[in-house]
Amino acid sequence: MAGRLERTVALVTGASSGIGEATAVALAAEGASVAIAARRRDRLESLAERIGPGSRVLVLETDVTHEAQARSMVERTVSELGRLDTLVNNAGVMLLGPVEGAPVEEWRRMVELNMLGLLYATHAALPHLLEAAAGGPRQVADVVNVSSVAGRVARSGSGVYNATKFGVVAFSESLRQEVTGRHVRVSIIEPGAVATELATHLRPEVLEGMRSTFGRMELLQAEDIAEAIAFTVTRHRRVAVNELLIRPTDQER
Ligand code: NDP
Repeated sequence: MAGRLERTVALVTGASSGIGEATAVALAAEGASVAIAARRRDRLESLAERIGPGSRVLVLETDVTHEAQARSMVERTVSELGRLDTLVNNAGVMLLGPVEGAPVEEWRRMVELNMLGLLYATHAALPHLLEAAAGGPRQVADVVNVSSVAGRVARSGSGVYNATKFGVVAFSESLRQEVTGRHVRVSIIEPGAVATELATHLRPEVLEGMRSTFGRMELLQAEDIAEAIAFTVTRHRRVAVNELLIRPTDQER
């Protein structure tokens, strides 16, 4: 059934590729106006062309690790699209490798993006989401936080990525308890291995190790996760999908 998000506005971070891009397409197909944020403007503009002309799309070149930019991303969404009903905190980076001898800069990038970027965006969006839940067309609003299987299961060689994604899960559950009574739903999406650009940022020696684990697996597609996010935010206001763990069928752990 199309159009379940008519008259609502969604903001998707990390929309220039992978899961974020597919999610923006899926939410627009449900009738939402979409604000799409990431650093690569050219990729956002071609996505906007692909989604339009049937939908309103706002391109927001944003580095969410900068608090002022994250705040401005939210404020521009509200001022240019009129409101905010759905925030999808998807932007993330996965820089795996052992703790011993790790380049600490990689840790900083993961903490700043996977944790702080998500916190800044959520903080800026919350007043608008509460307003949407109180008086919007659907009488409910959504924060969707993209964590990972790595937010549930810790593995050797994944310590700091695990820490950021476990952190996302803990923060999401705490926030859920704060705002669910006011009909802002907070959902955690936990994908297993998805075929996106995520692994392209790994150091070659780490990528080699990943290939031995995931090389022969039939990976999820970004659209599989986008579909789960669209499902989550299109439920009736009485239904809160708190958590979805989605692995490729071939993935054991
Ligand atoms: P991609 O690398 O394809 O997408 C990551 C997105 O984040 C890009 O759009 C990138 O855009 C954006 N991004 C990176 N840095 C910033 C920044 N500083 N500010 C704003 N946006 C930024 O990977 P995925 O689609 O796979 O990843 C999306 C989410 O899914 C992540 O949180 C990841 O941890 C999670 N995930 C992915 C899994 C997988 O197997 N692929 C498994 C489990 C979870 P740009 O560079 O243009 O800024």
